[in-house]
Amino acid sequence: MGRPQLTVAAVPLRLEGTFLLLVACPTVLLWTHFLSFTPDVFEGDLVLSALGGVLFAVMLVLHEIGHALVLRSQGGRVRVLTLSLVPHVIADGAPSDDRYMAYALGGVMVDALMLVLGLTLLGFGNATANAALAGVAALIVLVKLAALVWNLWPIPWNDGSLALETWNRIRLGRGSEAEALRRTARQGRGVSIPIAACVASGLWVTGLDPVQRIIFPVAALGAGVWVVRRWASVGREES
Ligand SMILES: [Zn+2]
Repeated sequence: MGRPQLTVAAVPLRLEGTFLLLVACPTVLLWTHFLSFTPDVFEGDLVLSALGGVLFAVMLVLHEIGHALVLRSQGGRVRVLTLSLVPHVIADGAPSDDRYMAYALGGVMVDALMLVLGLTLLGFGNATANAALAGVAALIVLVKLAALVWNLWPIPWNDGSLALETWNRIRLGRGSEAEALRRTARQGRGVSIPIAACVASGLWVTGLDPVQRIIFPVAALGAGVWVVRRWASVGREES
């Protein structure tokens, strides 16, 4: 565990060794242009790719800072924001239901803002024929689009599913926790295959090489089936 090591905007951060992987993996993927839908300006340019890797990690941390700032604005306290392979906020005590929705969606709000920023920079980079800027901007757009799908897709227990469950609890009123969870499981099951199918077809048209064109869409559909099965088991445990 350890103590927080540095503080940014009054949010205590704790750096862990696995955070390096969060920078190194995208760096290698960009540098080798392993995924054909990543901007090709990074290919073979280790310095620019490393900057892309750092940017990727920073974007994930900014999502978490979104959660932390919402929590703080509601009078809650952030114990620590871990800079690890999966950056996350540890709160001191959970916010009440009426505040939890905003807290759960605080990261997504930052993702949406950064998507708009990325699209603006992309337009600017293209207009000025600045290939490096356009490439970096395209990376922001790509990562934030993926983040929005991932975080809003109700998967137990990511931001989207926590927000959906809270919404169900608020709508059903006090003492309805079990019914709210069953309803969330039903809704989560219902949307998962359509979302997975959209992701799979999106990956199919991104110009991947023939092998990846099979592997990635199949993986997306597999993820959809996995989420449905997880929701089914949540429903069973609770009824
Ligand atoms: Zn989040």
